[in-house]
Amino acid sequence: MKEFELAFPLRHTPTEADLTAAAARALGISPAKVSTVKILRRSLDARGEILYRYRVAATAMGEAPIEDYKLPDYKNVSAAEPVIVVGSGPAGMFAALRLLMEGKKPVILERGVDVHARKTDIAALSTAGRVNPDSNYCFGEGGAGTFSDGKLFTRSNKRGDIREVLHQLVAFGADPSILVDAHPHIGSDKLPLIVENIRKGIVEHGGEYHFGARVEDLHPVEGPGKRQWKVVCAGGLTFTASAVILATGHSSRDLYRLFAEKGWALEAKGFALGVRAEHPQSLINRIRYHGKYQPDMPAAEYALVTQAQGRGVFSFCMCPGGILVPSVSAPGEVVLNGMSNSQRNSKWANAGIVCSVEPGDVPEYDKYGIFGLLEFQEAVERKMYAFSDSIQAPAQRMMDFCRKALSASLPATSYHPGAVSAPLHELLPDFVYTRLREAFPAFSRQMKGYYTNDALLLACESRTSSPVRIPRDPESMESLSCPGLYPCGEGAGYAGGIVSSAIDGILAASAIARTASR
Ligand SMILES: Cc1cc2nc3c(=O)[nH]c(=O)nc-3n(C[C@H](O)[C@H](O)[C@H](O)COP(=O)(O)OP(=O)(O)OC[C@H]3O[C@@H](n4cnc5c(N)ncnc54)[C@H](O)[C@@H]3O)c2cc1C
Repeated sequence: MKEFELAFPLRHTPTEADLTAAAARALGISPAKVSTVKILRRSLDARGEILYRYRVAATAMGEAPIEDYKLPDYKNVSAAEPVIVVGSGPAGMFAALRLLMEGKKPVILERGVDVHARKTDIAALSTAGRVNPDSNYCFGEGGAGTFSDGKLFTRSNKRGDIREVLHQLVAFGADPSILVDAHPHIGSDKLPLIVENIRKGIVEHGGEYHFGARVEDLHPVEGPGKRQWKVVCAGGLTFTASAVILATGHSSRDLYRLFAEKGWALEAKGFALGVRAEHPQSLINRIRYHGKYQPDMPAAEYALVTQAQGRGVFSFCMCPGGILVPSVSAPGEVVLNGMSNSQRNSKWANAGIVCSVEPGDVPEYDKYGIFGLLEFQEAVERKMYAFSDSIQAPAQRMMDFCRKALSASLPATSYHPGAVSAPLHELLPDFVYTRLREAFPAFSRQMKGYYTNDALLLACESRTSSPVRIPRDPESMESLSCPGLYPCGEGAGYAGGIVSSAIDGILAASAIARTASR
């Protein structure tokens, strides 16, 4: 087998004949002797002439052909031992799919509603500011990943085989281009159907879904032969199983508080805090494509990082051609995040611009012990709400922010609830403000034109990751204080993003299968 690079102009999709001819040249044989050709990776190169670059693998006749990745089969688990999965985000869904492969029955308990009913709650949030604490951009079927940009950041197989995630996404309806694109994304117009198809697949194979099932308590109980966990949902509905996967995401603050009440192991961890920066997408296209943007090119992305006062300030979850959304999970908070549809065709580009906050950075919150940073995160979100007395976002133009000047007017924004002019330089914690102020002009050295008063900063971006970790045994993946409980995904503090949370869910389900087979 030989791997090689190919390049084609923007509008030329390589045909079978193009690929065979290129493979023949690379292998030094005639086209008739080429056996298999496979595109491994595709990326856009706008440095000179705009090209798509392909990484291709090919084999000659007589060599072992390139095998396609084969997903393990799902078993029918109707009569199998149940495993409770709390949360139906990427970690919970992919844990459940892996349980089907392992012959175990996933029983998914989800506090929110199904993905279609969820759309109504999200519309009420964006248009009327009405927050349903069980159904919003963070909670509900598909978790925080459903109404998102659907960027699939993780390309590394270090923690697990990402092919299991990507190939299942394709099997349930995602475009196969995600298997090869260097920066794949799905988009929030496509994700709900994929999430629904996953549910249907799980139920078809004997798994169960329970919506409106907010888990409020967990008790160890003695069962036949081994310890069981009784899981109590709002309204008193209970479920029992020997293994419970906790995939509740970084916004399930009530679950952390339940762990603390029970005296179960928790650790404080750092997170990142800052603002969402929104630029006209046309400006980002001009900068990133060096003035060569054409309408059939993808909306340009960026990723920025700099050091300010000894700390990293970086862009987070950049959404090209996206919109800003209120990703609050309780009334009285303002939190922003970004999402986009598959076409990424809005007029705006947004990204979190955040700096890391570590335990010890806010000594006035030390009195809350391991919850110090969680209390701090909540306090910043509430401060933003208090400023506007609504989910409208306090906002300031970028240069005004750096000069500590209130903006006399604000540019149009994609944030549907709206923005109000605010002194973000005063509202943000000082150690965050001073670092961001240093970072924005520095970013313009990496992306000339980024530092502009045409960019709007909206606060706050705070749900970058969980400020608490549920520590677990690295081998068995069980909670250190509660064997049989498997904390995983972003809420457990071991993952960030759709793919890495999905992989973490797969690892938890595999660990359960390993333990059961001993
Ligand atoms: C607007 C937005 C855009 C994003 N864009 C991207 C992106 O483009 N790319 C990317 O990689 N990541 C993105 N993210 C982050 C990504 O969505 C998360 O990293 C990922 O969803 C985490 O997966 P998870 O399964 O660990 O948790 P979550 O997705 O948070 O899922 C947790 C689930 O648990 C449920 N739950 C919580 N508590 C309970 C309880 N007590 N009982 C029952 N159920 C409960 C919740 O309702 C939820 O469904 C975005 C997030 C948001 C909010």
